[in-house]
Amino acid sequence: GGGVGAVLERFHEEGYEIEIVGHSLGAGVATLLALLMFRRRPSMSIHVYGYAPPACVCEVLAEKTFPPKGERKRKAPNNPVPRKGVKEAMLGPSRRHSAIVPGKGGVNVLNIVLGDDAVPRASTRNILAIAREIVARQGEWKPAMRRELEDVQRRALGLWAPMTRATHWNRVARLTTGNPADYYTKDSGEGLKVAASEEDIKGTSPLLVPPGEIVHIYSKNGQRMASLVNHRWPGFRQVEVSRHMFRDHSKDAIMSALRDTLAVRQCQRATPRWMDAPPIGPVLCAVCGYSVAWASSSDNPLEQSRELRHCYACGRIVCVGCSSNRMTLPEFGINSLVRVCEHCYVNSAGKFRFGEKGCLPKQQ
Ligand SMILES: [Zn+2]
Ligand SMILES: [Zn+2]
Repeated sequence: GGGVGAVLERFHEEGYEIEIVGHSLGAGVATLLALLMFRRRPSMSIHVYGYAPPACVCEVLAEKTFPPKGERKRKAPNNPVPRKGVKEAMLGPSRRHSAIVPGKGGVNVLNIVLGDDAVPRASTRNILAIAREIVARQGEWKPAMRRELEDVQRRALGLWAPMTRATHWNRVARLTTGNPADYYTKDSGEGLKVAASEEDIKGTSPLLVPPGEIVHIYSKNGQRMASLVNHRWPGFRQVEVSRHMFRDHSKDAIMSALRDTLAVRQCQRATPRWMDAPPIGPVLCAVCGYSVAWASSSDNPLEQSRELRHCYACGRIVCVGCSSNRMTLPEFGINSLVRVCEHCYVNSAGKFRFGEKGCLPKQQ
């Protein structure tokens, strides 16, 4: 009311354009502040730029913070990437279509969401839904978790002895019959109580969603891509459980992803396709040939899927030990340091000289 609002109103009267920028909670506050200001002064036009915004407005309000459906020029189906969205998010307003009616004022929100960021998806409904899923699927995860705890205990007993690939596989052969199914013990524990019913989830109101037009940055075979979505995109209807779900919220990760998205558009060269893991059997490292989980406390299929890494340069599946080097790959528009396998790291020596752009010295 008094402080910030009065100052912004004065700037507006003096002919300034108002832009409010924020990250995370700040992005939510920026949107709510703009909407409150607009309600008091309907002649004001306010641009909001948010990074990793929370789900902070209802669906009705969200619809008022980006250009109405159908007014945006249609993009070619194979090029859904709005070039302006990313640049505008970095450089400020362009002359493109916005929710602001010329001469009448309004609020236009452009947000950036990176990958699996949990914050824009953390609405009460989404969190209740994932709690429900965890309870419903306890038959799957409880035996796996028991198996992993046993593995951790077994590993703790052998802490004084360094683990090598050979000792790891000797141990596996000694402790099991070789059949992966034997890794799992029967679940005899008492089941969790059901956390929330479908009705409970539906009855949670109001549903909060992230506001504005949203540049969603994602990865395809290790390259950064972006597409323009809004709260109706199904990807915001659930919490994506991944190892990037919290890291993708950080300002640093968002900034380097934005830079890489622009670089990928300029380089026009695709990275090799990332290899899929085999549907059954061990997931093997393309460099050393052992299971990718050879160095972890557990080697069950869940652990293999967690330990699986891809080399950004060749797209093959590698273990953590065989991909300890990081390089930039400017030929693919990747200017941040990314994981490469031992083969690609050694082969790159001919392509890039030590200290030159595109190759950083091996980390000590
Ligand atoms: Zn390996
Ligand atoms: Zn490689």
